[in-house]
Amino acid sequence: MGWLTDDERNQLAPAERALPRLPIPVQAVSSDEFMPMPQSPRQRALERRLKALGTELARHQGLTRRQFFRTASGMAAAFLAMNDTFGPVFGVSHAEAATPELAQARAQGLSGQFIMDMHTHFLRDDTRLQGFVRAREAVGKAGWNPMLVNKPQNIEDLKFANYMKEVFLDSDTKVACISGAPSEITEDWFLTNEMKAAARTRINDASGSRRAFSHAIFTPGYPGWMEQIDRAIEVLKPDSFKGYTIGDNTHKNLSKHPWRLDDEKLAYPAYEKFAKAGLVNVCIHKGLFPPSMAQRFPHLLPYCDVSDVARAAKDWPQLNFIIYHGGYRYAGAGRPEDAWQQFEQSGRIDWVTDLAEIPARAGVSNVYADVGQLFAQTTIAEPKLAAVMMGQLIAGLGADHVCWGTDAIWTGAPQWQIEALRRLEIPDELRRKHGFAPLGEADGPVKRAIFGENNARLYNFDARQRLALADDRLSQAKLAYEREGSLRTNLAYGFVAGRGST
Ligand SMILES: [Zn+2]
Repeated sequence: MGWLTDDERNQLAPAERALPRLPIPVQAVSSDEFMPMPQSPRQRALERRLKALGTELARHQGLTRRQFFRTASGMAAAFLAMNDTFGPVFGVSHAEAATPELAQARAQGLSGQFIMDMHTHFLRDDTRLQGFVRAREAVGKAGWNPMLVNKPQNIEDLKFANYMKEVFLDSDTKVACISGAPSEITEDWFLTNEMKAAARTRINDASGSRRAFSHAIFTPGYPGWMEQIDRAIEVLKPDSFKGYTIGDNTHKNLSKHPWRLDDEKLAYPAYEKFAKAGLVNVCIHKGLFPPSMAQRFPHLLPYCDVSDVARAAKDWPQLNFIIYHGGYRYAGAGRPEDAWQQFEQSGRIDWVTDLAEIPARAGVSNVYADVGQLFAQTTIAEPKLAAVMMGQLIAGLGADHVCWGTDAIWTGAPQWQIEALRRLEIPDELRRKHGFAPLGEADGPVKRAIFGENNARLYNFDARQRLALADDRLSQAKLAYEREGSLRTNLAYGFVAGRGST
């Protein structure tokens, strides 16, 4: 079997037509509250600048704006517009946006970069979680194609077929971990643990290599949760476990089983099972709980910050605690402007700064940050905030403890996030004031570590496995997909899917 069934391929066509048409989102999207943030005045300014730049450059190149935005120059133009709006944070030149050959050469030169994204999602076929459709709509909203304005996104956008396309064909991602989230309502898990494991097998079998990893979700306090850990270890063989201390993040109003990482009675027996099975990476959803949310669910607040991380890490030196979203509080109905304001007033950002301080405070070296959503949400709204958070995490945890994750495909293909980190630099003034080290070149040591080396080390993804990706069936399919033309159409994808079958 190939990556997709005929049914899935057919579903993909309408999804492709409804894709957002700007190279980067111009509006923040919530990954778990489902309600898109209102555009800030500066984001409106960004959108205007981006559209104006796109119109001008597209005309020079004899393309429609829509076509232009799908090229490497279109992506460069997006970061140019960001610099114009927010101040110079991204390394990009006007020449790149104006000269397709230049932009294409740069994109081509970096396309082989090893990117291991351990935080990706899609939804089960029978999902009822329509909220994510609205999240994607918000990304496409204010898009420049009038035909798409107010055009509903399709729920198929959130499913396996489009996941394959956006993660593996529309981005430079080489390896991805299929994640998920639990819920008190069984049908509302993003994917069951069985589904995650099955999708991993399906992708890896079709590729002939190790492209996909999968999480199993563990749910302390839920009925039968310890038996489910045993079953997962024995049957599903996840690459790591992931837990939500908030209990039920999808339906916060129903959350009955929040827990703390340092709860010896409840959580430690689970860690014991993980350690015994050699599953040393424990992934924990944290943050995404802004003040507005705390007001609605005050009883969940103590479970969302990172105050329980240090002790658990100290008590379990044989495990790695990988804190998802870096504990960043202000996504999910929060406002990056508030985070920036907090930083300007206090030098701190809830709860990223707290996380970054754990190694020095507790004398541990087994705490890691995943940047999923933390990076996406701030890059487009307050790029300086993204830069500062990277600076703090690297200073506190070490560049070898900051791990790539994008929360794709909630905000579409992750390529814009990849490009953002490649181009991001902490402005001089902030570096001097706070003593941050530079992030450096797109393919320099710091960014290489974050994009892939750290995750590869954590998950024992060795050189031989990495080498095998270069000419596996997925690489061949991607080549064919790109040959079909720089304008990535659903036609091209249909061809690829056909070729993927073996
Ligand atoms: Zn996620």
